[in-house]
Amino acid sequence: MTAAPATILRQHLIDPEICIRCNTCEETCPVDAISHDARNYVVDAAKCNYCYDCISPCPTGAIDSWRNVRADAPHSTADQLTWDSLPAQAPPEALGAGIEVGAGNTAVEMPDDVEKIAAASTAGQGGTAPPPWSAAHPYINLYGIHAPAVATVSGNFRLTAEDASSDIRHIVLDFGNASFPVLEGQTIGILPPGLDANGKAHHVRLYSVASPRDGERPKYNNLSLTVKRVTEDHDGKAAQGVASNHLCDLKKGDKVNVIGPYGTSFLMPNHPGSHLLMICTGTGSAPMRAMTERRRRKFAVGESLGKLMLFFGARSPGELPYFGPLTHLPREFIDMNLAFSRLPDQPKRYVQDLLRERGEDVARLLKDENTYIYLCGLKGMEKGVEESFTALCQANGLDWSTLRPQLLQQGRYHVETY
Ligand code: NAP
Repeated sequence: MTAAPATILRQHLIDPEICIRCNTCEETCPVDAISHDARNYVVDAAKCNYCYDCISPCPTGAIDSWRNVRADAPHSTADQLTWDSLPAQAPPEALGAGIEVGAGNTAVEMPDDVEKIAAASTAGQGGTAPPPWSAAHPYINLYGIHAPAVATVSGNFRLTAEDASSDIRHIVLDFGNASFPVLEGQTIGILPPGLDANGKAHHVRLYSVASPRDGERPKYNNLSLTVKRVTEDHDGKAAQGVASNHLCDLKKGDKVNVIGPYGTSFLMPNHPGSHLLMICTGTGSAPMRAMTERRRRKFAVGESLGKLMLFFGARSPGELPYFGPLTHLPREFIDMNLAFSRLPDQPKRYVQDLLRERGEDVARLLKDENTYIYLCGLKGMEKGVEESFTALCQANGLDWSTLRPQLLQQGRYHVETY
């Protein structure tokens, strides 16, 4: 009996060397094909339907990994959980392409829509939006884990009050003679030194750049980060964040291994008259600080600019990163709205509450095709912000459910929450 040749499957995998374990892919996957253990995120070949929904939101591109395998012998999830790196691509002869197999072998659809994968993977972090049409072209993936850039710490300052519950730091990294070009809204990866409990290298952690493209100090080859020292896990149990504690403890002159940069979507527009509507919580302020500082430097030399409207949530002024410098910005430069959630004898206020209060002004911005919206910080705020947009649109003659997809498609709505 003559049978069809073995079917080759282009198996969807996750690169454990680049993955930052942010859980975005698992949350995004509509068919629950992605799962994880304490170390790795894996894709179940039997469930993955190649919808590509997970590709674009991945901040590092670890999700965009593929290997040709025999359809009847894909890498199992149990195997993937043991990997430290992706296996090499098996040569075609090892896959048995052309070998005859018995009838009854199930043919597996090959994902041949390569363009779709490429388009999705270049969409970068923060959802499916393309970058603003006038964004500068970002450099990405200049340094990887096998050849990181080595930066030198030139500053490490506490941003939160001495008696604040959180230790948030402004850390300045100098790249010396190494080329590490970044744009506002991009992220970099930090490789913490040492090994984990299993004797393996710690995986990379991503941080948003908090300084503008021309450096924390203009014309210097440096950038800054906004880092909160992690001392407990999501359930409030004591847990020392490996990368955040490493960064927060750094002293001037210390060396740091940096990879990246990453991000091709969450970028700011450059055309005159473009408005920024920025909504953030806690350290999600890092990219907003970069964008605001970029605009502030232009404002200082008298350039004519679009509007800046900021909604920023923190527990109290002492917990709000960059509180002092923010309060010194001129009102004609930025429309600032600070929401404090834990002030004594005051009701809890979140950014979404202020959005509603300023509904008319926010709607005016939404009606302007030069407005670009950025949302960054806690995952939980996304729902509240969307609800506020829905309500304020309704009250001002707009329909958020129609507007939202248009904004996304035009690269005017960017979300980066964890
Ligand atoms: P946080 O201090 O825990 O919270 C900041 C504020 O957000 C508090 O006032 C908090 O109020 C409030 N909040 C809590 N739940 C909310 C909700 N559902 N809607 C609106 N506001 C809410 O924040 P954080 O620890 O700094 O977290 C910042 C987030 O930004 C993290 O998830 C981090 O991963 C992410 N991020 C960081 C960077 C970076 O470069 N470091 C970049 C991008 C994103 P209460 O707690 O009082 O209720």
